[in-house]
Amino acid sequence: MDVSSLLDGLNDKQREAVAAPQSSMLVLAGAGSGKTRVLTHRIAWLMQVEQQSPYSILAVTFTNKAAAEMRERVEKVAGTNMGRMWIGTFHGLAHRLLRTHFQDAGLPQSFQILDSDDQVRLIKRILKSLNLDEKQYPPRQAQGYINGKKDQGLRPKHIDAGGFPLEQNLLKIYQVYQESCDRAGLVDFAEILLRAHELWLNKPHLLAHYQDRFKHILVDEFQDTNAIQYAWIRVLAGQTANVMIVGDDDQSIYGWRGAQVENLHRFLKDFPTATTIRLEQNYRSKGNILKASNALIANNPERMGKELWTDEADGDPISLYCAFNEMDEARFIVGRINDWHEKGGNLGDCAILYRSNAQSRVLEEALLHKGLAYRIYGGLRFFERQEIKDAMGYLRLINNKDDDAAFERVVNTPPRGIGDRTLDILRTTARQHELTLWQASVRLLDEKVLAGRAANSVRGFMDLIMTLREDTQDMVLYRMADTVIQASGLKAMYEAEKGEKAHARIENLEELVTAARTFEMPEELEDMGELNGFLSHAALEAGEGQADAFTDAVQLMTLHSAKGLEFTMVFMAGVEEGIFPSKMALEEGDRLDEERRLCYVGMTRAMEKLYITYAESRRIYGREDYARPSRFIKEIPPEYVDEIRLKAQVSTPMANNRFSAPKSAATNDTGFNVGQRVNHPKFGEGKVTNFEGSGAQGRVQVSFTDFGSKWLVVAYARLEAL
Ligand code: ATP
Ligand code: MG
Repeated sequence: MDVSSLLDGLNDKQREAVAAPQSSMLVLAGAGSGKTRVLTHRIAWLMQVEQQSPYSILAVTFTNKAAAEMRERVEKVAGTNMGRMWIGTFHGLAHRLLRTHFQDAGLPQSFQILDSDDQVRLIKRILKSLNLDEKQYPPRQAQGYINGKKDQGLRPKHIDAGGFPLEQNLLKIYQVYQESCDRAGLVDFAEILLRAHELWLNKPHLLAHYQDRFKHILVDEFQDTNAIQYAWIRVLAGQTANVMIVGDDDQSIYGWRGAQVENLHRFLKDFPTATTIRLEQNYRSKGNILKASNALIANNPERMGKELWTDEADGDPISLYCAFNEMDEARFIVGRINDWHEKGGNLGDCAILYRSNAQSRVLEEALLHKGLAYRIYGGLRFFERQEIKDAMGYLRLINNKDDDAAFERVVNTPPRGIGDRTLDILRTTARQHELTLWQASVRLLDEKVLAGRAANSVRGFMDLIMTLREDTQDMVLYRMADTVIQASGLKAMYEAEKGEKAHARIENLEELVTAARTFEMPEELEDMGELNGFLSHAALEAGEGQADAFTDAVQLMTLHSAKGLEFTMVFMAGVEEGIFPSKMALEEGDRLDEERRLCYVGMTRAMEKLYITYAESRRIYGREDYARPSRFIKEIPPEYVDEIRLKAQVSTPMANNRFSAPKSAATNDTGFNVGQRVNHPKFGEGKVTNFEGSGAQGRVQVSFTDFGSKWLVVAYARLEAL
């Protein structure tokens, strides 16, 4: 391949970066300006033109997916196979290093990686051995403490806990935890980076070897590196390597996880010869999308300052849709995607982005209803998530105590001291006598085969289920769900854990209450009972399975997972105060800027078309909120926005169809208006949200305060206007 073709498809500034003499460089530029492209071409340039061996190049990306893509792109540009080249994530590369030099790293050859859940389990055991109470030292909090220290490069011996007993105990936990890991040959994720860093510091001959080898270090998404990652790169680079980092301070969105955007400044200090190249042309987005994004991010103080422009036409304005509620929002989004699909567009070119995972549920339901394939990127479907399956396990046992799968799932979740041995006895008895696990438990308790602590724990569990069964008998479905989540201890278990993941789990559990509240029995199942109907509904949804990698499917993901990606059509859903920016960010003032950067990341994913949607009322996390549109919407100048508001939401519900498309031009003679408050003899007070049909067939949709949304035939409903 000749030199010029490596520079084809690049603008002057990009060429300057790609073809720069060997040196250190910061490419600082906004979204979609070709940073990743420059990095890729630079690697190819180094090999083809500068005749550098792939062996001398180290490239770091943010995700494994990005690493695979980068490898593929480099291979395409360079026209050779990059098999053994070091391209990967920080964790991936550090892991490779530890495998190669396990002895120098003080690890057994067979060392294994401890994932986050294993880590928590180990911490729990340690708490027990130290006689520390899990309530006072929630395992996830201890985990956060340990990982946080490691991210800062700190071993127990570096930490001074001062005279604070809490801190002293956390330190003790860290110490004992580390000893256990070392004995067992286990390394957690933070340890991988820390050890790789220590390897540089403790083994000068190794460091010298790699410094000699890696003459070129390239890092993408540099704004989201943390302290230990930065230190690792800096030590490796030493005095001689050429380090090229690309990044965008406006897209730093992992501050909550310890990323330090200051690393950009630090880099310029630590590598004083580095030149800074700014790219200002955006190739991704149409004019209106770009100008709107620029205007939004201009509201942040303390930016390194960049302007982005595009040659592209303005394109469509951003469409802003104000929905009645979350179901209307989902229906709107899915309607647009369906139109696009019917006109021959690929589903895979559409992405729906949201702030928190719990928001996916309503969108998933709407997509399933329309029969559109979808994939959740970097996560599970709602009804497949661990905490949801746990809660459903309790509901299933209440519904049918002989449901063995549910029994197995929740008998010791949250932990109540029922160990594997006890479970084995139950299983064996059940098998031998052809009993269900529940029946086997009854029998073993009666016969006193189970005794002591084990018997007490099993009995406690069975009592809990029986009590729940009685207590929830006359409850409406959502109260039942709520009661179960609380009384089972599931919610408390996650509340004690703290941390982002636990928080998301609680949000999901609360969202399950909303799912129950808005659940409508399909007419054909009316006589099977609401709980049973709901359980089947959930099982079916979970059973649909993720669209496989080859199916053309709509992409659903959180805004965080969307970093670095691009799509023809992007929907940002739930853009409301309290959701985005999130409640937590609103409470802690300094996080608002990071939320705004996240909004910037979201908007700049769109190439052709961007939709922003919000709902006037939303049932989420188990409650109904009347939210205001996000401040971010107001920060977008109106000239780039087109507000779509379908006035009377007139729709044709098929049986149990909450997502049917709105039909315009129908008249309303139901005697009720959208927004009107009404009273129903059984469901109580509510608000009319929709209507359809006329005369004796006329139906209205009412959102009841206690019973969720229901379609009612006016002629029979005995609705009273308030
Ligand atoms: P982000 O900040 O979102 O990671 P980025 O700066 O890394 O964005 P890229 O993903 O490299 O941007 O590029 C954005 C899009 O623009 C890609 O589709 C890329 O192929 C295209 N692109 C980049 N440079 C050029 C160019 N000079 N001519 C045409 N297209 C380009
Ligand atoms: Mg990029």
